[in-house]
Amino acid sequence: MDVRYYVQSVGLARHATVHVSVVDCLTGDSVIDNPIFRLGLKSIWDSTNTNDTHLESHIEHGLYEIDSAGTHNLKVLFGPHDAMDTPCRNLNSVAAQPTDVLLFSAHTHGFALGDSLPPTCSDSALAPNQYRIYGIGDGGLSPADQIRQYTDRTEYGVKAMYVIDKDSIYRGAGPAGLDTLKDGAGTPILDSRGRVQLSPTSDWRDSTHAFPRRQTSPNCSVY
Ligand SMILES: [Zn+2]
Repeated sequence: MDVRYYVQSVGLARHATVHVSVVDCLTGDSVIDNPIFRLGLKSIWDSTNTNDTHLESHIEHGLYEIDSAGTHNLKVLFGPHDAMDTPCRNLNSVAAQPTDVLLFSAHTHGFALGDSLPPTCSDSALAPNQYRIYGIGDGGLSPADQIRQYTDRTEYGVKAMYVIDKDSIYRGAGPAGLDTLKDGAGTPILDSRGRVQLSPTSDWRDSTHAFPRRQTSPNCSVY
């Protein structure tokens, strides 16, 4: 598919006509199927460096899709790379103008379900031979992602968060609320920096959908 697109990243704006082949089959999700968003997904996926055999090198990248000045002029704003970004974290700060309307966010998880996550993905030190597994359950948005999407929605009106990993593209609108984690005595649990620990309310699953990347139809090839 050849499309005319406009991509704006931090300090960079360019026009181009390109061949788009991120998802050879339409998913039926109007956001993923939009060529502008799809091209943005391909860009952050390529930047995640998932062909590197060292999982530590699979650094998350993110973007926001915006409606520029509310004129239905869709653009993708790539999150600037942050020195603290890891295979399991990206800052994805949004460089939107005050008149821009934030619509959706997206970021990468550079793994397949069942991969052992690299050490930088652990908040606390793990014992030898201990490791964390990516995507226990069904993959997609992590609890931290759910909290971010809740904040993005309630503060900025972001409608959904998209996550792309090696298996699927996931869409989540986030939980209806956040719970405060408490210990057995009912006291809020604080993290190492003294912040109250939050968790997404369990209804987040209702807003989550997965679109498999590995299609078997002859009209759909792996991308
Ligand atoms: Zn994530």
